[in-house]
Amino acid sequence: MLGKISYNKHFEDIYYCVRIISRFFCHRIPERTFHVKGRYFPVCSRCTGLYIGAFLYLIYVYFNYVNYSRLLILIAILITIPTILDGLTQFIGSRESNNSLRFGTGLIGGIGFAILIKGFNG
Ligand SMILES: [Zn+2]
Repeated sequence: MLGKISYNKHFEDIYYCVRIISRFFCHRIPERTFHVKGRYFPVCSRCTGLYIGAFLYLIYVYFNYVNYSRLLILIAILITIPTILDGLTQFIGSRESNNSLRFGTGLIGGIGFAILIKGFNG
């Protein structure tokens, strides 16, 4: 019983710290953020997709060789466009996106951004 209380307190502390730090990187508007059992993710649905996409790509390149050709860089640029368009058109108020679209475009955009970062930094 004592172990469970300690674990929950530790989890609460980590959750609180992540939420404080994430404020500097993401708007975290509740309507645009996933939540589970009343707890909101530390970042919005688009950023969740971006981080997961980038993380998955980094796992992939850890185990596989990637040749950063001009074609791959072009593809990376192209797959970031939906993320930018979705965010930009919503930002200027021409349309309202939804969390599934934010996450989906963020996921492929995260892969694209990770390819660009790895491609230009080696
Ligand atoms: Zn965000």
